[in-house]
Amino acid sequence: MALVPCKECGTLNSSQAEICLSCEYPVLGRPKTNWVKSLALLLALIFVIPLALYTIGTVSNQTNKLSSPSAK
Ligand SMILES: [Zn+2]
Repeated sequence: MALVPCKECGTLNSSQAEICLSCEYPVLGRPKTNWVKSLALLLALIFVIPLALYTIGTVSNQTNKLSSPSAK
């Protein structure tokens, strides 16, 4: 099993490792495109933000109903 120095930080990694153990730079020299990660993050934000807002709105509505006295 050969050791391959990281092109970014010089750490010796296994030639079977895809990324540097130290800095996670691709050892094989072929930088993975980050668009997959960016797209996943974007999708997560698109789904998570409305869900979070909805959850917060629901919770605050419930707490309002619970905390506000039914005085008329
Ligand atoms: Zn490295």
